[in-house]
Amino acid sequence: MNPTHPLFDLAGRTALITGSSQGIGLALARGLGQAGAGIVLNGRDQARLAAAAATLRADGLNVATAAFDVTDAPAIANAVTRIETEVAPIDILVNNAGIQRRALLTDMTEEQWRTVLDTNLTSAFLVCRQVAPRMIARKRGKIINICSMMSEVSRPSIANYCAAKGGLKMLTRAMATEWAGSNLQVNAIGPGYFKTELTKPLVENVEFNDWICKRTPAGRWGNPDELIGTTIYLAAPASNFVNGQIIYVDGGVLASL
Ligand code: NAP
Repeated sequence: MNPTHPLFDLAGRTALITGSSQGIGLALARGLGQAGAGIVLNGRDQARLAAAAATLRADGLNVATAAFDVTDAPAIANAVTRIETEVAPIDILVNNAGIQRRALLTDMTEEQWRTVLDTNLTSAFLVCRQVAPRMIARKRGKIINICSMMSEVSRPSIANYCAAKGGLKMLTRAMATEWAGSNLQVNAIGPGYFKTELTKPLVENVEFNDWICKRTPAGRWGNPDELIGTTIYLAAPASNFVNGQIIYVDGGVLASL
């Protein structure tokens, strides 16, 4: 007996997850693969990408790789064309690649501002500009944008990141508005604090670590695997009438003062 409910079955689907050579993206890729999807991993560092692909293949998953920079429009166009012709049509796109460049606004350089906006917000527009028209032609597609609690609230030193993630929340709604009629479902996930390379400076900061554990009703950091269930739901037929939603997976932070 197949234990997977058909509403959550991703067999025969192909998912491109940007920024999936480590951290949250890699966890989501593994989860989507375990739910039956073929996986296309992405990142800039070829060696890290190859190592990530090897770990998923060792788990028996069907994995391809596509090294490209999500801020580089011509590279994205080439990669998406190659994936669609040599791997498979993309049914599921997870716009996950993201970076952090912390600085107080008065000290923030133009480079820190632009790099974070380009990588965390403009990237979703650029990748979707290649993938969405193909999904629209097929009248089927799932797009999941990885937002943040910083789509709603802020802290000192991350204004660039907040502007990008707030923008990504509204871009999600705009995409849903334009593409729902073509049977694309565009939604987002807003993770709370999860232990990855991105948050390493925060995990290692004893004062911050104590504060976030007290501030989070669940009393702890999240594990990237705890984002998999929501991702499978938003990638699967179970969410076929869900559009423009941002689901926060944050241990209750945004629900509490
Ligand atoms: P991470 O561990 O630093 O991983 C980031 C991934 O993105 C890496 O695979 C990296 O590979 C790739 N990447 C970065 N820039 C890229 C670019 N220009 N083009 C292609 N790939 C690129 O980060 P993470 O914590 O897993 O975060 C993943 C996403 O979740 C981000 O959007 C982040 O904002 C969001 N998020 C994280 C948390 C958290 O607590 N960790 C909370 C809320 C939201 P290369 O460097 O090799 O390119």
